[in-house]
Amino acid sequence: MNDIALHITQIGQELPAGTRLVAVSKFHPAEAIMEAYEAGQRIFGESRVQELVAKYETLPKDIAWHFIGHLQTNKVKYIAPFISLIHSVDSEKLLSVIDGEAAKCGRTVDCLLEIHVAQEESKYGFTPDSFREWLAGNPLGKYPHVRVRGLMGMASLTDDDRRIDREFGELKRLFDEVKASGKVDASVFDELSMGMSHDYRLALQHGSTLVRIGTSIFGDRGY
Ligand SMILES: *Cc1c(COP(=O)(O)O)cnc(C)c1O
Repeated sequence: MNDIALHITQIGQELPAGTRLVAVSKFHPAEAIMEAYEAGQRIFGESRVQELVAKYETLPKDIAWHFIGHLQTNKVKYIAPFISLIHSVDSEKLLSVIDGEAAKCGRTVDCLLEIHVAQEESKYGFTPDSFREWLAGNPLGKYPHVRVRGLMGMASLTDDDRRIDREFGELKRLFDEVKASGKVDASVFDELSMGMSHDYRLALQHGSTLVRIGTSIFGDRGY
């Protein structure tokens, strides 16, 4: 077995039933993706539209592509026809553009709303409080071509496991609160995307259903 296949298998064995692996293949070539594919992996995560579209066009059509990076509204149209899940919806503006592009291709696009819980400054993601406030106005009904499937978040980049633990815990509590709030369709609100190479084991302890792992599968991206 090659290294990529081995890593896919080993990580897979750590995941509880109901948690899926998103193999983050950004900056890695098609050959690396195919090694993971041959090992049975079907969900791949990318963070740049151009790179994702190029890979989508050349790689097997039964791959479920997930978009995990910051998505500019003017690029939504390139991925709307085929994207399986957008993890990183960080504004109502983006949600409305996805809704419009999805409608044009006769699709309903699955999305997660990105919540900012880490200590680092970020332009992207709702803070938990701004998210609660926004949701209180019942915004989602305006976007019938978007299906909000859950939340996504990143913990701080730190060696302090207690901080990471606290942040994933906060995200999980927010997820449970929102699911019970009546502001989302609870019957499809079932994904909590959290955990990367260095912190996915902590994320699993807090009920992550999608771990997004790149480096531990494919090695360094060289930046
Ligand atoms: C790159 C990236 C990952 C994967 O990170 P690794 O540390 O390589 O596992 C996960 N989530 C997001 C949003 C990313 O941009």
